[in-house]
Amino acid sequence: MNAADCWVDVPADSPFPLHNLPVGLGRRPDGSVGAFVAIGDVAFDLGAARAHFDGTAAVDDLVDDRGTLTRFAGLGREAHRAVRSRVGELLCDDTMRPELSSALRPIHELEMLVPVAVGDYVDFYSSLHHATNLGRMFRPDGEPLLPNWRQLPVGYHGRSGTIVADRTEITRPQGLRLVDGQPKMGPTDALDIELEVGFVVGAPSQPARPVGTTDAEAHLFGVCLVNDWSARDIQSFEYQPLGPFLGKSFATSMSPWIVTLDALDPFRVEPITQDPPVGEHLRTHGATGFDLHLEVLLQSASMREQRIPPVVISATRFDDMYWSAAQQIAHMTSNGAHLRPGDLFASGTVSGPTPGSEGSLIELTRRGERPLELPDGSSRAFLRDGDTVTLRGWAGSDPTTRIGLGSVSGTIRPAADTRRHH
Ligand code: CA
Repeated sequence: MNAADCWVDVPADSPFPLHNLPVGLGRRPDGSVGAFVAIGDVAFDLGAARAHFDGTAAVDDLVDDRGTLTRFAGLGREAHRAVRSRVGELLCDDTMRPELSSALRPIHELEMLVPVAVGDYVDFYSSLHHATNLGRMFRPDGEPLLPNWRQLPVGYHGRSGTIVADRTEITRPQGLRLVDGQPKMGPTDALDIELEVGFVVGAPSQPARPVGTTDAEAHLFGVCLVNDWSARDIQSFEYQPLGPFLGKSFATSMSPWIVTLDALDPFRVEPITQDPPVGEHLRTHGATGFDLHLEVLLQSASMREQRIPPVVISATRFDDMYWSAAQQIAHMTSNGAHLRPGDLFASGTVSGPTPGSEGSLIELTRRGERPLELPDGSSRAFLRDGDTVTLRGWAGSDPTTRIGLGSVSGTIRPAADTRRHH
């Protein structure tokens, strides 16, 4: 297929050119839910074009009885590849135009949903710069990295039931945190974000059969963006000795379009050298990294009222992550735990080595010591009510060939007034 032959207009700066074709789950204006492929500013309704998918995966029931794409994800990469390839053919066959124009609708007319029923959600901690930055802040007198960090991809199992779709409002969580040295229940004063890349599991693996690094990517449906909202004051009081809990589990936002590894193939990079060398089960060969570029944007309520556009508060890259998705999957299954369709692996906060490339406010503002100045004249250590945070990302540095991961946004709502309920 050739972009010049494509009968759908794709704006030059679109994150979704013909060589991307990510899949998503959307609610149509009539309330029904369907599977869509993004191309330019429009979404191709696979259900409306089902007659043209003979011989490929059963497009009729791409949406399973849970109303998600989980079953489709579980069919594996050959099935995903067949559908993506057929969509490309149809969009480049001019004779299809009269019949299929009605299967295209503006993306903005759809309410994009969480594409899969996320079963298990694992959050890793795989950026060397992020782990070092946090280690320095929390343990200023010790080594920034704990002894296990370079031996295995550190992670924890998160809460899948609070994974939410793009544009879901985030209610400021309440919790126990230290106020003047005393534990006190109340709304968090340190609401933060974490800029992460998500890997969604497709084909399942068998119980008690570890998945090696070489086979790991065969189990992936695709890639998205993840915002792991975090309440730092709740987190810092609760996290020892068992790790993050309520400071993280109130909400995690996931971007709607799942970009396939096939689409990302041209943007593969060699991973950075791991020192010391890792154990046998974590060794990889070849280009297991991806040249992804990521940004965090912030718009306050008053900026919105004054029509001041969101500002970029962080710009970073994914190509020097210390641990790859292949290693994370190999490690998670090394004890016999298996993969299920729809499981989500998040990379951990992606931070770069330079100021302005950190993927969380706690790093960007040095725990609030260096607040960010916003164009409405206000400053930020952590998020205020009414703030909208958007993550966006793309693969490749050449604007003419890059492909987008799309974006994911959330706006902070005031804490619920719990007194009413007593
Ligand atoms: Ca995280």
